[in-house]
Amino acid sequence: MAHKISDECISCGACAAACPVSAISEGDGKYVVDPDTCIDCGACEGECPTGAITE
Ligand code: SF4
Repeated sequence: MAHKISDECISCGACAAACPVSAISEGDGKYVVDPDTCIDCGACEGECPTGAITE
């Protein structure tokens, strides 16, 4: 299961910089995780200021 970004996302971009496989990109109104690229490392979770990223 890839990580997911909820509607709490404020599009700050902090998570995208933390992802080692560049699975996170800016989507429509929030950032999104590409489930095929995500390796479920969890590096992005702690970077989000609103706690929008969940397993
Ligand atoms: Fe990237 Fe790891 Fe977050 Fe998946 S869990 S989106 S690989 S930082």
